[in-house]
Amino acid sequence: MTTEVPRSFHMTPDEFRRQGAEVIEWIARYMEQVEDYPVLSSVEPGEVREQLPATPPEHPEPFEAVMADLDRVILPGVTHWQSPNFFAYFPANTSGPSILGDLLSSGLGVQGLLWATRPACTELETLVLDWVVDLLGLPERFLSTGDGGGVIQDSASSATLCAVLAARHRAAPDNDLAGLVAYTSEQAHSSVEKDVRVAGLPASSLRTIEVDERFALRPEALAAAVEADLAAGLRPFFVCATVGTTSSTAIDPVPAIADVCERHGLWLHVDAAMSGSAAVVPELRFVNDGLDRADSYCFDPHKWLFTNFDCDCFYVADRSALIGALSVLPEYLRNAASEQGAVIDYRDWHVPLGRRFRALKLWMVIRHYGAEGLRHHIRRHVALTQELVAWIEADDRFELAAPAPLNLVCFRHVGGDEVNQRLLDELNASGALHLTHTRLDDRLTLRLSIGQTHTERRHVEAAWDRIRTLA
Ligand code: PLP
Repeated sequence: MTTEVPRSFHMTPDEFRRQGAEVIEWIARYMEQVEDYPVLSSVEPGEVREQLPATPPEHPEPFEAVMADLDRVILPGVTHWQSPNFFAYFPANTSGPSILGDLLSSGLGVQGLLWATRPACTELETLVLDWVVDLLGLPERFLSTGDGGGVIQDSASSATLCAVLAARHRAAPDNDLAGLVAYTSEQAHSSVEKDVRVAGLPASSLRTIEVDERFALRPEALAAAVEADLAAGLRPFFVCATVGTTSSTAIDPVPAIADVCERHGLWLHVDAAMSGSAAVVPELRFVNDGLDRADSYCFDPHKWLFTNFDCDCFYVADRSALIGALSVLPEYLRNAASEQGAVIDYRDWHVPLGRRFRALKLWMVIRHYGAEGLRHHIRRHVALTQELVAWIEADDRFELAAPAPLNLVCFRHVGGDEVNQRLLDELNASGALHLTHTRLDDRLTLRLSIGQTHTERRHVEAAWDRIRTLA
């Protein structure tokens, strides 16, 4: 009598080896071909979903069928952020070592909530974040060897939320939130407002401070707002300065903002989501000015440091307020290493409990490029941006709308909003490149952001040629 072996349904290691090799080959081909795709997906809302079955399959489907749908349905619905002709928003660049690091992280399937649940995940993260202090010339107070330290968060939005929560804990350890007031510039990223709301404060407790002609926060306006709130019996507690605003890469004067914070005992957080990566280049370390006086700092290697989403480096000068705000210890997580106080448990440094092994990809990027390679590419992007600035300045149909200290150019046609809107629409419809816009001085402004891994001079030149031709 033969007994039937029950079907396992699992992918065997041999199937994984074969299909995994095909996926790697698919990605490598995508990297080679991405430049040839129309940058902006042209699908209509609902079009992707319509082409796929409305209900899940009852029976297992072959790998080949899934890959065929990837080519047929998914790829046309992708806007190609990794195209060298992608100049929209801010970059979200990536690289081979980063993708492989992410794959290894998935392969290990680590949950790094506690040191004890995977020591290497914690210790590599601590090491890599200390490396980044060195790589970017950040203040030593952010090193884990002192009172501070760094942690990888999923995004700058989450990092700033943790900064607000730590500041709230320091200002109101008894959780009496009445009258707490936070400050940021009117050009700050929308995540600051969202974070303040998530932290349990009304949106009205956030003051958006006016900016100067360079779109940077006016420190004297900040001081006046804080003093007015104190006089009204309110409790100022938190300031978020931005180094490299989303609209125009304006750089808030962090040292002057730190003066105000120190005078009134306010938590100073610095959000350098995109621009922070510039500090790998010594001559661009003006982006670090005043950081030695910040309580917390974040930047996104997933924007401009060749590390795919998600990877935000978040630092605090004194970790006790952060841990005080976020630590909850149920019995089932108690363990000897934590109790001896000998280890870092990163679950106390952010909102979720579980965490992926994200340090692997950043570690692999840094080891693959070395500081030298990272400096080379950031310098290259900034030099290309400065070339584009010179071309725009030389064409009297166009004007610069803001200073371009790093890798974003804000510019417009002098013909007004309608002309700029038409130009933007035609450029994006061409498929040859993708740009986005903002409003500066209440005028429609085109943004061209240079930071994709493989953007070369020829791509920027072609973009400028097309802009001039369509103008
Ligand atoms: N802060 C600034 C200055 C940004 O430019 C951005 C996004 O562009 C963010 C925060 C939000 O970034 P994330 O997607 O990492 O939350």
